[in-house]
Amino acid sequence: TLSRRNIGWVMQRTLSPTVWNILKQAGKLADGMGFKIYAAGGLVRDVLLGQESLDVDLVVEGDGIRLAEELGKAHRARVRQHHKFGTAEVILSEDFKIDVATARVEFYAYPAALPQVESSSLHQDLYRRDFTINAMAVSLNEKKFGDLVDFFDGREDLEQRMVRVLHNLSFVEDPIRILRAVRFEQRYGFKIEPQTLKLLKEAVRQGVLHKVTSERVWEELKHILVEAEAAKMLHRLEELNVWPYVFPDVNYWEVDPVLKELHNAMDLLDQWGQLQPAERWLPYYIAVLHWSEVEVALRVCRKYNLSKRQTEKVQLALEGWREAVAMIWKAPQDVKISQLAKVLLKMPRESYPMLLAILEDSWIKVRFRQLLNIIMDSKPKINGKYIKSLGYRPGPVYREALDALWRERLDGNLRTEEDERQFLRDYLDRVTKGESKC
Ligand code: ATP
Repeated sequence: TLSRRNIGWVMQRTLSPTVWNILKQAGKLADGMGFKIYAAGGLVRDVLLGQESLDVDLVVEGDGIRLAEELGKAHRARVRQHHKFGTAEVILSEDFKIDVATARVEFYAYPAALPQVESSSLHQDLYRRDFTINAMAVSLNEKKFGDLVDFFDGREDLEQRMVRVLHNLSFVEDPIRILRAVRFEQRYGFKIEPQTLKLLKEAVRQGVLHKVTSERVWEELKHILVEAEAAKMLHRLEELNVWPYVFPDVNYWEVDPVLKELHNAMDLLDQWGQLQPAERWLPYYIAVLHWSEVEVALRVCRKYNLSKRQTEKVQLALEGWREAVAMIWKAPQDVKISQLAKVLLKMPRESYPMLLAILEDSWIKVRFRQLLNIIMDSKPKINGKYIKSLGYRPGPVYREALDALWRERLDGNLRTEEDERQFLRDYLDRVTKGESKC
């Protein structure tokens, strides 16, 4: 029926006004240039699932680069062009980019029937995609705005909650789709369609994953590690024998319980205001490797070309978590908070979700929260200026004295600001014996 084929109103309801307006505007621009234009891929899938999408992936039958330039001009946005592929990227902001591709109109193929020619080039573009649910498009030209183009019954698969490849060689052609199938299956709680699952398993058995570069695996793996359902995805990779390709020599079952708790742990830390988003994939990455020998973990870091700083974080987490957990478990009278702070602060923040996931009982989680609060909120009010006012020459002694002050504060030995000043004076007097005074 007509309503099934036009999804304009669903788009208006689900997309943000910003995205909606851009789609409308792109349609008008294309009309003016005599091009046909479509939004394709993730956006169409998400709209049909009733979900917002920021993933604007345009396909132009005509000159995609020229259209991107016009769109860029209208928004004073930078446009990155790839002439070799006829693609461009309109960069509206750091996390909002529009992809524009050119679907070439091949006149020689069907000289007689122009409309057919055009949909054949869109067909080609969509046929190169991974799954039927990702291979739908929607017209943006004003007269046809919202018309669904669904050559491969993607909508039916979406309703049946199925991840299905477009053809039998799909996983062999691009093995990274094996990871993508798992990601979409678990993200939406779908099933990989039985024939597709057979093809996937066969491809894994043949070792096709050896042919993909680690760079591409890492790109896809990062996407997995920031998903809400990352734990389920990793479990599924193990189930499908893909795990050894992704994390060689890492034993999945040793980390399974911690992975399953990690999302909750991150939620808790977030509620406590203690989750700091740096590299969002790092908490899961650290949790995956925490049970491994440092050597094995470092090999994985090298495989994925992690930076020196990222690798260091992983190593510090691996070396520190056992001691940290043991100390958090100790009775308060048996461990100084300053000692705990030292151990915890040596570990990267991205390893705290894992620590929290390992601490199973709720009362010990509460204690961890109290410790974090104390440690993070107890910066002394006094700083280097005060030391300077006492007449000490700036140098390493400043840092040492302030660290000592902080430890005393953490352990609850200093109550007032005057206590802190007194402590600093005594400390500096003792360690310098007056030597570094100006
Ligand atoms: P997400 O919601 O995770 O952004 P997405 O579907 O938008 O999902 P992208 O990785 O941004 O995923 O890819 C955009 C589109 O490009 C997909 O919808 C799919 O049609 C196509 N695509 C991406 N990677 C592949 C691949 N390896 N093989 C075939 N098609 C792909």
